[in-house]
Amino acid sequence: MNRGVESKGGAEVKFRINKAHFPVTTLGYGRRLGLWVQGCAIRCRGCVSRDTWDAGGGWDVEPAEVVAWCDARRAQEIDGITISGGEPFEQPRALAALLEALNAWRRGLDRAFDILCYSGLPRRRIERRHPGILAMLDVLIPEPYVDGGMAGGRAPRSLWRGSDNQPLVPLTPLGRTRYDGENNAACAPRIQVSIDRGGAWFIGIPRPGDMDRLEEQARARGVILEGVSWRA
Ligand code: SF4
Repeated sequence: MNRGVESKGGAEVKFRINKAHFPVTTLGYGRRLGLWVQGCAIRCRGCVSRDTWDAGGGWDVEPAEVVAWCDARRAQEIDGITISGGEPFEQPRALAALLEALNAWRRGLDRAFDILCYSGLPRRRIERRHPGILAMLDVLIPEPYVDGGMAGGRAPRSLWRGSDNQPLVPLTPLGRTRYDGENNAACAPRIQVSIDRGGAWFIGIPRPGDMDRLEEQARARGVILEGVSWRA
């Protein structure tokens, strides 16, 4: 594959994001920085991240800021970054600039740091249109989320994938080492809870019906969840 040519002078390109969090332990190997991109026109039925859909929401970050966040967590044994959404490939120049900056930074690390990216776009389209971006990722999880519904849904075979149609595509030796066979996924929790910025964040891959059950159980204990991201 060709190395990225999708950004020039990438340091000035800003990424529109919804939120960032560390440590994320439910969206990839180990302890990670989670970066949720703002804006998604795909609008899968059953998406639990509807708060990321509006391209006009969120806030801008420069690639150097994200690298600085990662660098500040070296002592906390950061293992990688997960770029989720929202739809990262709706901002291809910013995504390429971020990946260039992360790849330059991680070359100086004394521990492995992997880059995992989710997308709701078809894998073939990404391969055709964004080979430069793919060359800078360790793992890609593409394809739209397919909702199984609360009762009839089937949990995906992998903890990292939202639905069974989504392949987990390792792209580098590090990606294959950490994600092939998904050994680490077997003992990872599916959802973590973070209280941050005046709200509660549920981070991870819920099984079909998990969020409805969570709401029901909270309600039974007198806790009403309002403004949730998995409902219009
Ligand atoms: S699941 Fe992902 S691709 Fe689908 S609507 Fe939600 S954010 Fe967009």
